[in-house]
Formats: sequence, C-alpha cells, structure tokens
Amino acid sequence: RKHVYRFGAGAADGGAGMRNLLGGKGANLAEMASLGLPVPPGFTVTTDVCTAYFANDHQFPAGLKEEVEKALNFIGEAVGARFGDNQNPLLVSVRSGARVSMPGMMDTVLNLGLNDETVEGLARRSDDRRFAFDSYRRFIQMYSDVVLGLDHHLFEQALEQYKNLNAMELDTELSAEDWAQLVERYKQIVQDKLGKPFPQDIHEQLWGAIGAVFESWHTARAVTYRRLHNIPEDWGTAVNVQAMVFGNTGDRSATGVAFTRNPSTGENALYGEFLVNAQGEDVVAGIRTPQYISEAARQAAGDDRPSLETVMPEAFAELRDICLKLERNYRDMQDIEFTIQDGKLWMLQTRAGKRTTKAALKIATDLTAEGLITKEEGLLRIDPEQLDQLLHPMLDPNAKKEVLTTGLPASPGAATGELVFTPDEAETLRNLGKSVILARIETSPEDIHGMHAAAGILTARGGMTSHAAVVARGMGRPCVSGAKDLSIDYEGHKMTAGGRTLHRGDVITIDGSTGEVIAGEVPTLQPELGADFQQLMDHADEVRRMKVRANAETPRDAKQAREFGAEGIGLCRTEHMFFEGERTTAMREMIVADDESGRRVALAKILPMQRQDFLELFEIMAGLPLTIRLLDPPLHEFLPHEDSDIRETAQRLGVDEAKLRTRLAQLKEFNPMLGHRGCRLAISYPEIPEMQARAIFEAATEAGQRTGAPVVPEVMVPLVGLAGEFNEIKARIDATAEEVARETGVKLEYQVGTMIEIPRAALRAKEIAKSAEFFSFGTNDLTQMTYGLSRDDSGSFLGDYMSRGIITNDPFVTLDADGVGELVQIASERGRATRTDLKLGICGEHGGDPASIAFCESVGLDYVSCSPYRVPVARLAAAQAAL
Ligand code: PEP
Ligand code: MG
Repeated sequence: RKHVYRFGAGAADGGAGMRNLLGGKGANLAEMASLGLPVPPGFTVTTDVCTAYFANDHQFPAGLKEEVEKALNFIGEAVGARFGDNQNPLLVSVRSGARVSMPGMMDTVLNLGLNDETVEGLARRSDDRRFAFDSYRRFIQMYSDVVLGLDHHLFEQALEQYKNLNAMELDTELSAEDWAQLVERYKQIVQDKLGKPFPQDIHEQLWGAIGAVFESWHTARAVTYRRLHNIPEDWGTAVNVQAMVFGNTGDRSATGVAFTRNPSTGENALYGEFLVNAQGEDVVAGIRTPQYISEAARQAAGDDRPSLETVMPEAFAELRDICLKLERNYRDMQDIEFTIQDGKLWMLQTRAGKRTTKAALKIATDLTAEGLITKEEGLLRIDPEQLDQLLHPMLDPNAKKEVLTTGLPASPGAATGELVFTPDEAETLRNLGKSVILARIETSPEDIHGMHAAAGILTARGGMTSHAAVVARGMGRPCVSGAKDLSIDYEGHKMTAGGRTLHRGDVITIDGSTGEVIAGEVPTLQPELGADFQQLMDHADEVRRMKVRANAETPRDAKQAREFGAEGIGLCRTEHMFFEGERTTAMREMIVADDESGRRVALAKILPMQRQDFLELFEIMAGLPLTIRLLDPPLHEFLPHEDSDIRETAQRLGVDEAKLRTRLAQLKEFNPMLGHRGCRLAISYPEIPEMQARAIFEAATEAGQRTGAPVVPEVMVPLVGLAGEFNEIKARIDATAEEVARETGVKLEYQVGTMIEIPRAALRAKEIAKSAEFFSFGTNDLTQMTYGLSRDDSGSFLGDYMSRGIITNDPFVTLDADGVGELVQIASERGRATRTDLKLGICGEHGGDPASIAFCESVGLDYVSCSPYRVPVARLAAAQAAL
C-alpha cells in the first residue's frame, strides 16, 4: 500500500473522504488542491505509516524513503526549486494531522531545508538577506525544541541578551548581520548542550522532523486531549510536508485565519483576523493582536487599524470567492488558514469550523434554507448535548454590576466563580466542588486541564481565534479573551483592572456574550430561545417518532417542561409532595400511628393537599397525559434522624419520644433500596394507595369539568416484581375509581400501569401485561438492580472501572444497552406479546441522554421522559434517532 499521497499543482492523490488515512489536514489539503485552489504543493505520509512506526520499534517502514524522495522532487518541480539546492533551495513545513483536529497538541517544524549553504541561496533568491537569516534562526530554534528536545527558552534568552547588549528593543531592529550572528550562537547552544553540531544534512533534518511529529502523538498534553475527547490512542497522526510560503517577506505579505461565517453568532459573513508581515503561528499565539479581515467586521468592532479588505483588496476578493467555493463543496462553515506572500494568496488549511451552539443553530437552519443541506442533515448537524448550553441562564441585564473591564466575547454564556491564575489551582478547587474562573495572560495547550475544570476562562491577550477562544468554544465554556486593560501578576496571585485589584479566591463574573469582566456575583435570567432554535425544534418534531415527556411534580417544573415542548408528564414522583411543612407532619403522624384507623385519620389530612397538587398539574398540562406514581421511598425517609429533631417531632405529634425512637428503630433497614419501599408499602398499607388514587381521580374529575376536556390519568405502581403485587394494588385502585365515580356521578377514563425497574418484572412482563396497561422503564433502579450497584454510592469507584477501560460510560448516565438494555428489550417484546397496544416509556435519568434515547428508538418505545431542561435535548436526540 502507498505510504505517501501528493497534492498541489491542481491535482491530488487523495481527497476529503480519506481522513482516516491522511488525517483531517492532509485530506482537506488534497481536496482543496483538486478543487483547483492555490495550495502550496506537498505530500502526506499516512497514519498507517505512523502506526507501523510505533508497532515496529520506532522504525520507518521499508519503501518509505523512496516514496518521500519522489514526492520531494514533485514539490520541487511544482515550485521550481530543489531540496538542498545551494542556489535555489526548497524549504518545507512538516506538520502533524490526526483524523480529528487536536489544535496545538502536536508538533510542527517550519523552514526545514535550511543549512549554512542553502541559507545563502535563499538570501540571493529572495534578495533579502535579513529574511533568510531570520528564517534560519527560527528554524534552528523550532527544530531544536521539537526534534532535539532543547528548551526554547535557551534561544529566547540568547536573543534577549543580544538585544540588551546592542541596546535594541524590538526584533525588527535586528539586521541581517545581527541574525547571522545569532544563528552562530544558536548553533553553539546546540553544540554545547548536545555535544554535537546542529544537523547540516537536510535529509537528516527531514527524517528527524517526521519522526518527531509521530512521537508528538504521545506527549502528555496530546494524551490528555485524547482522553477528554474520547479519541482512540491507536489512531496515530499523519505528517504533512509542504512547500513553505512566507507571510513575513514584507508589507505585501500577511498571514491569517478566518471562518466562512461568524463562529459566535453564525452570521453569514466572512469573519477572521490577519497580521501583516508575520508567520502563521503568530496569529494563533496571540502575541500581536491581529486586525480584522472584512471591513464590516472592523467597523462593527470599532477597530482603527485597516482591514485586509482595504490593504490588500485583490487578495481579499480571492479569499472571499474561495470561501464560497469551500462552503459549497463541504456544505458547511469552514475554518481556514491562509498566507499571502508578496500579494499572492495561498490556502494552508480548511476544516469544519468550531462554533458556539447559537452559531451552530443559525448555520444549520441557514444552510437548510439555502438548500445546501436537507432538513434531516440540518438536524444531524447539532449535537443534542450542545443545546444544553442555550438553555442555561444569562446575566440579568437590569442587575447592578461593577464592570472592571471588557474583552472580546469569545465564547458565550455567563459564569461566576473564584478567581484562580493557574490550571492546577483550577483543577484542585474544582475537585473541591468550587466554581472557578481561570484567568491567564494567554493560554496554551498545556493549560487545557485547567480550562476544562474552570466554569469560565479569561485572558488578557489574544483574539477571537486565540487558543483560549477556540478551545473554550469547543468545550462550551464561557470565555472572555484579549481583555487588554487587565494586568495579571502570576507571582503575586492577583490581577488589576479598572483601577481595582482582585486576588486569588475573589469572586468574579465573566460574560462571554458581551466580553464583560465583572466584580462579584451577578443575578442571572432564563435565556430567550430564538427563531433558529424554534425552527430546529419544529424540524425535529416533524421527524421524530417517539414522544417526549418530562419528569415533574411541581407546577413550576411542569410549566417549564411545557415551555420546552414536553408532551406530557412521564413521571410525577408523589413523595416530593410530602416533604413540606404541614404535609410532613401529617405523614409522620401516619407513620407512627398504631393501627390502620390511626393511619386513615392522618391520610385524610393529606388527601385535600394531594388533590390540589394534582389539580394544578392537570390544569397546566391541559389534556396532555400525566403519569402519577404512587409513593415509592421507604418510610424512614420521612422521619427525623437528629436527636434534636426527634425530640421536637415527638412533641409536635404529641407522642412519647421513646415511642418515636422505637418506630425509627423498627423502620431501620440494612438495604433500604432493597427494602420496604415502592409497591411493597402499598401491599402493607393499602390505605396509602387508596388515598392517592382518590386524590388523583377526584382531581382529574374536577379538572375535566373545569376545562371541559377529559383528563386521562395514568396511575403508576413502582417497584413491581410480581404480577400478584400489581394485581392486588390495581384492584384497590379500580375499586377507588368506582367509588369516586359513584360519588361524583362522572365515569372517568384512566389507566393503571407499572414501572419496570426490577429484573424479575422485565422477565415476567408477559404475565404482568395481562393487567398492566402501560410500562415505564425506571432505568435508575433497573440499572442498580441489574448490576447490583448502588446508584447512590457507586460513583466512588466507577471511576476506577472507567480508567481501566472495564466500562466506557457510567451506566447511570448512559443506558447499558448490552445488559440493562437486553432486559428492556425482553420486557418490551414479552409485554407486547400479551398486549399489542401496551404503551412503553422510559422515565429513568437515561430518558434525557442522547445515546440512551437512540437505544429507546431501536426497541420501539413510545416515549422518553426526562427532566424539564433536557426536553429540547431529547426532542432533537429522538429526531436524530429516527433518521
Ligand atoms: C427509576 O428508578 O428509574 C425511577 C425513575 O425512579 P426513581 O429514580 O424515583 O427511583
Ligand atoms: Mg425507581
């Protein structure tokens, strides 16, 4: 198989579809070359070579050398130069390129091919001796750092020293001879540190760089990045070797990055930044603050430095045309890198651009409207998890706030937390459960663990495409970048802005949508969901098969759920209604009562409150289905456990403290989750389900009369394992329904069903479905009981399982499709074998998890039910699952 794929001069061996073999960068360079775009010619060494290199004790495979030689000749011919030629040398860049982008994680070497002789050739050819020696010293430093393992500070120090000695401040003050002298010093540093000279053999340079790029796959920061992004270790990286083009040959040269649409808002307008007379890495490094590409963006930002559109109108026009071509070809917003050398535009990279959720929505709906993608493709463009970001609060615009300074709105959303200045501190405090804002002068790939730990990120330097901005947007963290008036003092653990000094641990707020940096905490508001969101949700609703309901028991949650588009309530946990004020007292009275009649007296006090709760819910849901679950938790949860509370409760109930303590002791269980709870309570104390059923039916009757629309309550029995349990409780519910009908004169329609949360119930579904009219999978308990894992305690050790690769996901977050899922499938099939129209739903936490929702679609459930804030996520995930 071929090791090397060429691109450039209007043709290419590969294309965008070959990302696994060529890496993202290589595949897209090939694609651009075949589209006829101006790409500096080059070649890609495949990811297969990388994996072979690691499998074979860091040896290059046979035949690679010959292929690389030929490909170098191809580049040389295309640009009219030769690798190693003393008169007319070809210089190349050597860059990594994995299947998915890992920004800044792996190494790059530029200007390769320079030595003491070729540098003279470059000087003559370019007629610019200063440029040639400047390039050579950059190359020595980069190569020594990346390939030879020497700290770049050594070279930076030497440069500083040289400038000090010669009373210079800026790099621009150094002449050709100054750089030539520095080159000698740099070479001496290499000789001193390594005991051997800097390699003059350009082939040695090239193979050293290719090997170093492969090796950089295993650097600590790359490994961390892969862990955070679930990228497999065995993918490896490709290496791209490409003719150098220079953005630093004078004022007709520049380098920049751009997005074909605005990555923050999604607006359909070229958006990007550039630097005149600079090399590629300068823009991303955030050392000089770049200028805007388009005139409109410059004006909008009120920047007084000219745009690319003004300074190089021809290159700008070409760039704009290329962006259109790329969008039409890839049918998505692109993130590009380019260089202009002496007025000529060169494309260095294109890839799907990272974007905020807001932008993702706008771009997907716009591209659908433009006819570039279908409605279904538009739906698949949005990661349902991402929607979560939009649904969260933003700063209250009317709140008083002390704005310290304003930077760039690099990644939207508001975040409040304690100020920290190092990534390690961010991580430490986060592990203590604190919210932190990480403030840095600028960020680099070594900081990502801290950025991940932080609630928000603030930088003093860098533009909208700086490392901090790009990474924060990808992670969904609010970020303010380039807050120029901010001065950060790492040593003193403090920063100053707006005349105020803040120290480590002080609380600040950042607003990544406006760029504001604010002292203290600021109240937040619910977000407005715009037209694009609405459009996407409409499309999702047209496509999905499963219904989406919410788990809610309070009027507030029920209203929120409806606003987010819930089509009913899939789980109303009635115990939550017993945990307040008077109700708790009545509940406790019931628990300590000596006999059934005592319990009935206490329950009679709860009945009207419970009925009122249900009435409100029925009214809010206005005819949508509502599943009400009978009391589930063990009774001890309603009793006090602290000495002082016990004393006080005994007094309030008018019972002996000793009696209350005895009852507490009786209710104590070794395994309360496996104990006297759920339907088992209803078997022992039938007066409880009778009261609840009465409250439900009376409320439903009244709601039906008030609204004129019939209400069909679904009464759900928890924790059933035996058909006999369910049948006995159902008989009581039916009897209560008849009683209420007799009393009210209204015959109500209702359903009685069960949760499936005990493995035995799943297995015996055929029998249970004879009397149960619906099943709702309680996958929290079903997971707990199938695994024999405590849902409350297993977090303390599941991390060990994940880090060892024994499990890939927490089974309480993403449904274990293989094991727990098989039970869901068995129960669905067996249940429907008895009752073909058996309604099936899920109401465990998994009902809001996209991967679990896809599983639910595959077994043919009728609906998922999740927390109100997850409803939009579930609507989209259900649509994607149906496609
Ligand atoms: C479940 O077990 O999945 C469920 C929804 O019930 P709870 O979480 O209340 O036990
Ligand atoms: Mg449960």
